[in-house]
Amino acid sequence: MRKVLIAEDNAVNRELLRELLETRGYTVLEACDGQEALDMIDQARPDILLLDIGMPVLDGFAVVRKIRENPHLAKLPVVAVTAYAMQDDREKILNSKFDGYLSKPINPRSLMEELDRLLSQRDDRHAPNRSNGGQVDGKARAAGNGE
Ligand code: MN
Repeated sequence: MRKVLIAEDNAVNRELLRELLETRGYTVLEACDGQEALDMIDQARPDILLLDIGMPVLDGFAVVRKIRENPHLAKLPVVAVTAYAMQDDREKILNSKFDGYLSKPINPRSLMEELDRLLSQRDDRHAPNRSNGGQVDGKARAAGNGE
């Protein structure tokens, strides 16, 4: 079963994401700040991280930097989740070491497409013989997605 870690300081947002993900069969872990997120990644080894940018203790930019500095975690797919609508924030996110980007309020369909895309890329890298794992939902996507 796929494990998704939600790192988000807002309880309502965590609950919304949890419901969306559990309905679709994901196992959900939660962290309320950046340091807790790093600790949980160490302990629970999630398959993917949904990372809020604005969080206490360590913000999302600091968390993704620490993840990429750690050789054991460097390949963990990390999706930035943020309400920041400003163009520089978007650019800063795209220039940071994130694998994907979702803006709040979360569009359920975009969320699932990001998870499918990143988890199937991961399968391709780590398990080349396990094709047709049923993860991609019939929508084959071009690598790189044009961004
Ligand atoms: Mn936040």
